[in-house]
Amino acid sequence: MAGSAARKVAVVGSGPSGFYAAEALLEAGAEVDMLERLPTPFGLVRFGVAPDHPKLKSVCQNFTQIAGHERFAFFGNVALGRDVTIDELRSFYDAVVIASGASTDRKLGVPGEDLPGSWSATEFVSWYNGHPDFRDRSFDLSCEAAVIVGHGNVAIDVCRILLKSVDELRRTDICAHALEALAESRIRDVHLVGRRGPAQAKWTVKELREIGMLANADVVLDDSDLALGETCEAELRDPRGVAAAQSVKILRTFQGRPRERARAVHLHFNLSPRALQGDHCVERALFDRCRLSGGAFAQVAQPTGETVALETGAVFRSVGYKGVATDGVPFDNRSGAIPHERGRVMDRGEPAPGLYVAGWIKRGPSGVIGVNRACSLETVATMLADFADRPSKAPGRAALRTSLAARGVRPVDFTSWSRIDAAEVEAGAAQGKPREKFTAVSEMLAAAFAGATSVPQPRCA
Ligand SMILES: Cc1cc2nc3c(=O)[nH]c(=O)nc-3n(C[C@H](O)[C@H](O)[C@H](O)COP(=O)(O)OP(=O)(O)OC[C@H]3O[C@@H](n4cnc5c(N)ncnc54)[C@H](O)[C@@H]3O)c2cc1C
Repeated sequence: MAGSAARKVAVVGSGPSGFYAAEALLEAGAEVDMLERLPTPFGLVRFGVAPDHPKLKSVCQNFTQIAGHERFAFFGNVALGRDVTIDELRSFYDAVVIASGASTDRKLGVPGEDLPGSWSATEFVSWYNGHPDFRDRSFDLSCEAAVIVGHGNVAIDVCRILLKSVDELRRTDICAHALEALAESRIRDVHLVGRRGPAQAKWTVKELREIGMLANADVVLDDSDLALGETCEAELRDPRGVAAAQSVKILRTFQGRPRERARAVHLHFNLSPRALQGDHCVERALFDRCRLSGGAFAQVAQPTGETVALETGAVFRSVGYKGVATDGVPFDNRSGAIPHERGRVMDRGEPAPGLYVAGWIKRGPSGVIGVNRACSLETVATMLADFADRPSKAPGRAALRTSLAARGVRPVDFTSWSRIDAAEVEAGAAQGKPREKFTAVSEMLAAAFAGATSVPQPRCA
């Protein structure tokens, strides 16, 4: 890296994009401080990735190696906007990378959406994965049919968790409170509903294939949904439609399968949500039957005038995540992301000096873990080019520590996180699980500071 002193960079967020940015910065000789609002690292790898997908979580071992670098420091339990302002961070560091992900959900925008019994997939996923902000939620799973709106991988995750038996889930890292509630679940039928057709679904092939392999649920679909129009067929022949073509091929293998199991996934296409109805809670979901119109890869769903009703007491809305604005950081409300040029944050068309962005808060909420690597590399390359030969003038870590201490904030460093990790793994081993997560910040802090003379109190949001 140009300049004699190491550049000092703060990375806000400890999900994949934060760690990939940190890795690239460390390789370039920078000193990296990572701020994370929770005492635990790894973002959606811990709180999003489904418990029955343990292999994907092994990426945390790579992140742990990165955290072991001598020029890296972890500041868990430190939130930008709560414990430190963006102006302070910008004065302490040569550059700040916002990698805070997309933590809220998009709305359907239909009447009845806020009735009891209608939840976002975000809430449900965060609850079963033990996110402290969601541990106290409750989900009434006493009805027999659930509806999931959305045809993406998160919708499929929710579908699997609702339909797998408790015996299949109990050896995963799913939280004890979720396992207990799922043991009481009466849900037998899950309707997975999408606005457009099989060729436009957003799920990936691997996830789709998995619902066809559920031990105790059949896949049910209507043959007519797989009679695709000429424009869809053209999309599937196009090189851009390779994944969709594979997905349609898998759907065709589901056709005509006998009903043999107690539970079922019902795949519905071309149904756009119109309303959720019920006297005091959701009793049915109404949809407009749609047909596709427009050219290849630009087809939109147009209502045909027919309405379809699904009787249900549990609706999970899975139509996308959305980023949240941070005070003092430019934000585009429409896209739910931070405006940028190759990772350089843009403020009303002008570069915001020293401010960068990576991951879901940069690109919007799509892309698997690995996609964030290229995204973060682009951001770091832009930053390094901007540094050019300017020497580092930032005080860095010492200034952050002084400021946090003045506010009574005690960060959780990576060694303290290791204590939380070890305690979770130990609690899980007793039950044959990879880990039993702490779900309250107070519990996490107690484990992090075990043996210390005092334990910090959790701070609000
Ligand atoms: C339900 C779900 C399941 C998924 N399953 C898979 C899968 O099976 N395989 C796969 O490859 N990908 C999966 N993904 C995608 C993957 O999780 C994302 O690509 C990835 O996590 C995005 O990384 P990120 O770093 O941008 O955001 P995140 O992982 O969300 O990390 C952002 C971090 O920033 C922190 N933060 C937020 N605000 C602040 C603040 N103000 N101050 C300090 N810290 C802050 C958050 O607490 C969080 O730790 C899944 C996503 C979801 C939602």
